[in-house]
Amino acid sequence: MGEINVTFEDGATERLPAGITAREALLAHARNGGGNRKQVERAIAARVANGDASAAVVDLGRPLVGDCRVATVAPDSTDGLDVIRHSSAHLMAQAVKRLFPETEITIGPVIENGFYYDFKRPGGFVAEDLPRIEETMRAIVKEDLPVRREEVAKDEAIRRFRAMGEHYKVEIIEGIPEPIVSLYHQGEFVDLCRGPHVPSTGRIPAFRLTSLAGAYWRGDARNEQLQRIYGTAWASVKDLEAYLARVEEAKQRDHRRIGQALDLFSLHPIAPGSPFFHPKGAVVYNLLVQFVRALYARYGYSEVITPLVYKTELYKTSGHYELFKDDMFLLTVEEEEYGVKPMNCPGHCYLYGIGKHSYRDLPIRYADFSRLHRFEPSGTLAGLTRVRSMSQDDAHIYCTPEQLDDELDRFIAMTREVYSAFAFSTDRMSVTLQTRPEKFLGRVELWDAAERALQRALEKAGFVVTPLPGQGAFYGPKIGFDFRDVLERTWTLATVQIDCAMPERFGLRYVTPEGTEATPVMIHRAVLGTLERFIAILLEHTAGKLPLWLAPVQVRVLPVSEKVAEYAAAVADACRTAGLRAEADLRNEKLGYKVREAQLAKVPVIAVVGEREAGAGTVAPRSATPGQEAVPLAEFVARTAAEARVPGGAA
Ligand SMILES: [Zn+2]
Ligand SMILES: [Zn+2]
Repeated sequence: MGEINVTFEDGATERLPAGITAREALLAHARNGGGNRKQVERAIAARVANGDASAAVVDLGRPLVGDCRVATVAPDSTDGLDVIRHSSAHLMAQAVKRLFPETEITIGPVIENGFYYDFKRPGGFVAEDLPRIEETMRAIVKEDLPVRREEVAKDEAIRRFRAMGEHYKVEIIEGIPEPIVSLYHQGEFVDLCRGPHVPSTGRIPAFRLTSLAGAYWRGDARNEQLQRIYGTAWASVKDLEAYLARVEEAKQRDHRRIGQALDLFSLHPIAPGSPFFHPKGAVVYNLLVQFVRALYARYGYSEVITPLVYKTELYKTSGHYELFKDDMFLLTVEEEEYGVKPMNCPGHCYLYGIGKHSYRDLPIRYADFSRLHRFEPSGTLAGLTRVRSMSQDDAHIYCTPEQLDDELDRFIAMTREVYSAFAFSTDRMSVTLQTRPEKFLGRVELWDAAERALQRALEKAGFVVTPLPGQGAFYGPKIGFDFRDVLERTWTLATVQIDCAMPERFGLRYVTPEGTEATPVMIHRAVLGTLERFIAILLEHTAGKLPLWLAPVQVRVLPVSEKVAEYAAAVADACRTAGLRAEADLRNEKLGYKVREAQLAKVPVIAVVGEREAGAGTVAPRSATPGQEAVPLAEFVARTAAEARVPGGAA
């Protein structure tokens, strides 16, 4: 065999014998003073690029046959974790076959944070099987079985899997067009697989089986039912434990759980995906609307009220009938087809088109809190984050091309103001710019100009922008403001979008200073987005501890004994007179119990009153710092009311 040129991460090239494995090449380079031996030993796989082909992650044992570039893949890198997770799927399948040899294996891909494998086992698995499988997996890790790749002819692979009784594997291989397939062996276990894998089972650092679920062969409900076992795998035990703690924390913070504990909302099969907001939930909901309304007054928006149900003719004009029809609720009335609106824009365009507009009237900013309905399959509905019935702090702006930059600046300013009201710090925010997708409506010149305008506005505001090419909506490019919550999950909140299609489709016009007619620019924007979803995010981010201005109950007054019940009621009254949502807990219970209950109900201000307070006309608040000094009642009320003011009013 001849020699090949192998180039390493440090840029150095070495002549090495053809057929040398990636690992041997990396070690040889380290021995010659290049690269880092520890890094090579820690590597879980290699990244190899031949010629101008893009780099592929391969086994460390993969022979290098031509000139190439080679790099290590660390276990805790994205690629490294994929290798560990897929290797964990093989490990689990091997353990299952050892424990339950009658099981047939199907597929076992990598998913976010983990992996699964679908099995067909007569009699099926029960949850109690998972610890046993996990134990056998750990035993196989201890055996440190080498993982070996083998390439065989398709017919040979089919013959082998048929002999093993693995009919699903046979079916998969029969569908592969290439004449050669690759198999991965570890001990007695073999699986059809493209790889790459860890070099040996001992190199799988940390995993946990998490759940058992039903699945169908090839994901099709008409096919045979299988069972899926889910697991998670990480580059270290520490990472695994941190992940499991995050999952546990997310469970504790689940907005459905908090919503029930605080009696905010509930969902029922009578109206799937359509939440019932209870009185306390409605308080939160309406305060969000009130908050945004105050901003609208300052930022020059006009609120409108528009129909919920339109003839589908409207959606044919807007383009939604063609592209969004499957997500809409349609109905027939007097032999005509109607649709419940999934969004406000078509109605707003219609409204704009009713009157005649001069450049002097622009910009026109229509805001609308209307209820919207979108059809989501019942299987995908989840709490307040995936609903069929929703409302948004939605608005559409119609302006001249000259006014566009100013409108975008105003929107960004308003967005900043909203986030500061929720104490969302800037380091938790990031910005994306989503540009023209392959399928789009409208003219390319409009798209280019719109994308440039969005870019300009973001640069001016000093944001670091992540471009997402091709991910804009079909009618225009979009800016998304992403919020990272305490569980490190990212949610898109505010969005602003320039519409390159709808104004022309509706034939919208305004009269220019020259007396000619022109098409206005249309902007779609929302800051909170869907109120339902925003409430869910806020509840999970704050674990239910809403800011004082948004808390359904702001003050709870707790008398130390029955003797001061009357004074406690008077304190609550004084708070309510000042506009606070306050109540007195006059039940005949121990003070400690009442304090705990108020804390569980996430009441931000707890005011304890005893005989001393009643005598002196004071209150001892127990909000942030316990043991705070008693303050005169009037001062307490004034201070709390000032702190509880809904933000966003006139500055
Ligand atoms: Zn595999
Ligand atoms: Zn819109």
